[in-house]
Amino acid sequence: MKQVMTETVTPPLQAKPSSFVSKIRRWVSDVFPSLLVFVVVNLAITLIFLVISPPSSHTGTLRPESSIAPKELELFSAGLAVGLVASLAYRRLDVNLVTLAVAFVVLLDMDHLPAFFGINQPIRPAHSLAFLAITLVVLYFVAGRRGHIEIPILFASAFFAHMAADTGVFAFFAPVSFNYYSLQSVQIPFIALAVCIAALAGYVKNREKPLPKARNSVIYG
Ligand SMILES: [Zn+2]
Repeated sequence: MKQVMTETVTPPLQAKPSSFVSKIRRWVSDVFPSLLVFVVVNLAITLIFLVISPPSSHTGTLRPESSIAPKELELFSAGLAVGLVASLAYRRLDVNLVTLAVAFVVLLDMDHLPAFFGINQPIRPAHSLAFLAITLVVLYFVAGRRGHIEIPILFASAFFAHMAADTGVFAFFAPVSFNYYSLQSVQIPFIALAVCIAALAGYVKNREKPLPKARNSVIYG
């Protein structure tokens, strides 16, 4: 009788590593498809705009090397802020919301890739309403319809956060028009929009998956 009781103690000790691995796997399966889609649409828009834009608009260049690191830090901070606001509305720190928000904000600048390779290009093709609309639709089908409607919403917040952090000129209505103009006058409305939409993403996620009773566990999904 005594032997049977001692054997029942071991399972919880073995369960921890597999639980951690399954959380990592869940994080990858929840986050990776949306990130992949984001990158593919970004590069596709960059290529398409490069081809269809008038050569006179190919004035895009890379920023000076010395300013790249501070700019990336600024974008990282903006993404972190978006993720934290969304987490606040979700009522707990959420790894998916934070990592996706940071990645969306930082990787939007992948549209600088042609200039990186020395190719003349239109300025910031993914910093446009067309990229926002197309990515929203694609993310809706990839993530939204699969129980993660907060992901396209979070992307919209990240987009406006990035736009608010950027200075200089944009062809915001490309490909309808490749005329460039500053968006400095709408910087504050863009920040407000980013904060509100980030809160909406967290709120929506909270409604999708009610918080479990256990308060000391970390939620990755
Ligand atoms: Zn940018």
